[in-house]
Amino acid sequence: MRMRIVVLAGGIGGARFLRGLRSAAPEADVTVIGNTGDDIHLFGLKVCPDLDTVMYTLGGGIDEEQGWGRRDESFRVKSELAAYGVGPEWFGLGDRDFATHIVRTQMLGAGYPLSAVTEALCTRWNPGVRLLPMSDDRVETHVAVTLDGERRVIHFQEYWVRLRASVDAEAVVPVGAEEAKPAPGVLQALAEADVILLPPSNPVVSIGTILAVPGIREAVASAAAPVVGLSPIVGGAPVRGMADKVLAAVGVESTAAAVARHYGAGLLDGWLVDTADAASAPEVEEAGIRCLAVPLMMTDTGATAAMARAALALAEEVRA
Ligand code: GDP
Ligand code: CA
Repeated sequence: MRMRIVVLAGGIGGARFLRGLRSAAPEADVTVIGNTGDDIHLFGLKVCPDLDTVMYTLGGGIDEEQGWGRRDESFRVKSELAAYGVGPEWFGLGDRDFATHIVRTQMLGAGYPLSAVTEALCTRWNPGVRLLPMSDDRVETHVAVTLDGERRVIHFQEYWVRLRASVDAEAVVPVGAEEAKPAPGVLQALAEADVILLPPSNPVVSIGTILAVPGIREAVASAAAPVVGLSPIVGGAPVRGMADKVLAAVGVESTAAAVARHYGAGLLDGWLVDTADAASAPEVEEAGIRCLAVPLMMTDTGATAAMARAALALAEEVRA
């Protein structure tokens, strides 16, 4: 029987890791539980950045350099909208990408749940994994900030893309998560998994949001399968992006060991840190999580496949 691997994924970090995993274990049956807390409504359209990043990356449609959005993209629709004075201008929606959001919004309007819509979009892209949104219910991550001396709560995308996390995140709230239900197939995939992997995705606004959907954290923690994660923090800083800002909001230091302790031994069986952080392995092991140091830079598919193999090997070790 094919090995069943379940991966909880955000956008770029999750998608790139998945490409390595597909290369390392081409025979495996991979289910991805994708973060939808980053979703936003723009120009009347439902945009799901993390699901699309996974779909485009595995389907060969991604802008490799940027890590998100379509390759060979143009922005004519966006500039036409701007000519009407209709924004936001800070969110980069390209012409090719627009088509995805139009199809998605049309299907949602016709009554299909997001999980069915995602499956339909994936029939074009053939990502080679089963891509499930964490929930069919609306969840939206909001961030509390102080701007010009005034406390405001803004959408995560406004914090991340417009403000580039230039001010402190005082709180991060996955609005709607408490009432959300796991999408069809999510709990079953976790219960039947042979291995559960947490890729180097953002621990707060990607994986943390998925775990905030009632039932998912419990299903991961109580699964028969070993749970192994890979650190998105290398040498005391996120490899890309501004994860340190949202980690600070939840009181977690930006170190590979602190992120492991944040997930905790109740959730994680194994944790991979980069060789640069090898000295922190004993601290993780003291917390009851088996820890190894291996190179964790996803410079190309070969290096990423090696990371995936290391994660699967660690899963076998902790299973035994
Ligand atoms: P997002 O939704 O696009 O922000 O993507 P994810 O949440 O899936 O992943 C973001 C995280 O990936 C960031 O915190 C980065 O530090 C991490 N990341 C990106 N590239 C690498 C890499 O090559 N190695 C490791 N270890 N982490 C990475
Ligand atoms: Ca994201």
